[in-house]
Amino acid sequence: MGLIYKSEKWLKEVLFGCQTCGQCILSHTALICPMNCPKGLRNGPCGGTLDGKCEVIPEIDCIWTKIETRKRKKDYKLHLPPKEELFNTASYVNLFNGKDRETRLPHDFVDTGHIPAGSRLAAKMGGGEFVVTLEIASPRDARGLSRVEKIMQRVAGLVDAVNTTTNAGGVPSLHSTETGKVVAAHGVESIIQFCGRDHDKDDFLREMEKAMGMGYINFLLLTGDWLPQTERKVAQTTWFPMDSSQMIHFANKSLVDWRDRLGVVPFLGCAANPFSTPMPVSVERLAFKRTAGARFCQTQAITHVPTYVEWYRQVRAGRDDEPKLTIPSLPLVGSRNLFEVLCRLPGVYVDPSLHRIMERDSFQRDCLEWAFEIAEGVIEAGAAGIHAMNFGMPPDLINEFLAGIRGRATEARRRAGLVFKAAES
Ligand code: SF4
Repeated sequence: MGLIYKSEKWLKEVLFGCQTCGQCILSHTALICPMNCPKGLRNGPCGGTLDGKCEVIPEIDCIWTKIETRKRKKDYKLHLPPKEELFNTASYVNLFNGKDRETRLPHDFVDTGHIPAGSRLAAKMGGGEFVVTLEIASPRDARGLSRVEKIMQRVAGLVDAVNTTTNAGGVPSLHSTETGKVVAAHGVESIIQFCGRDHDKDDFLREMEKAMGMGYINFLLLTGDWLPQTERKVAQTTWFPMDSSQMIHFANKSLVDWRDRLGVVPFLGCAANPFSTPMPVSVERLAFKRTAGARFCQTQAITHVPTYVEWYRQVRAGRDDEPKLTIPSLPLVGSRNLFEVLCRLPGVYVDPSLHRIMERDSFQRDCLEWAFEIAEGVIEAGAAGIHAMNFGMPPDLINEFLAGIRGRATEARRRAGLVFKAAES
């Protein structure tokens, strides 16, 4: 290792906790080294941070929350994934020979707002229609698809789209596209999930094209949760290949090519966490992803309406003429064990009101009524729809929720005097 590398490494480790990525972006991250993020994000924070703490190592502050809090100038420019071949090399040398140019300098986003996405979900949301989506966790293997089939037989006529997860919570499962086949067989659109944890750029774009070839058109692009079996530490070996904003950018940049070559324009979605603090960082993070090309957003689970209402007010500030494309997620809780799972999910804030309900004998029915109340609250604030996430609620109560929510949404929108503008989606 050369002298330049050794002296740079020593000095920058002392000053910035340098992780020797070889493509330094300190001048763009308020002199805070982002590679101390366990996921190695070059654009953050991820949705797992709560109270400014890291999802992966809760004892430490979220690096990206610190960066975004300290950065005075908010620039909507993207950093690309770092090149592995530059790890453990001298970034001063790479700066001089230009090897780090592509990954050191921020990149402009591409505006594709004029290209309409081609899904029914996009058309409904663009037309201001209230939408209902449901989350179905992909089974570990094909035997579990019969469970998905039973769910679809019950809910097919009550939902506009179904999110089928991939490796939810980092637990290996069938891919979203496999589970999506059962959903499609009932004439319902899927929302396919890809995680930056699982793909590098080329592999991701290949998988996107494969999924579009299978008829899928709605995509939720996520950074991804930490893998439970992976040691919780900061190391080059655990850095994720991509973050969600990079995935959205790469897909967005491919829209014209996909439209012309495949005849498909996918509806790109992102996630957001209204409960991450400080709130302006979370609001900015969504604006960043929207500028990257995200057309709709599904939030983290909502358990406290006033926080969501304030967050959404900030999100909508100065954007009255733009369509409302945010779908808050709602936990439908019907099992005490699965309630514990909800409480442990990264980035999820569980309001004391739900903890109190879980102490009652009638908690299942009471959780349903609680869910309707939360739903009406976020709808009155302008939600474009509701995303139902099941945590063990009995099938009949889930159906009662899905069958009843549209009527309540119409009433809530009327009460709030909300008019949803149709727009190019
Ligand atoms: S993993 Fe997430 S929460 Fe942790 S430092 Fe990185 S962006 Fe922040």
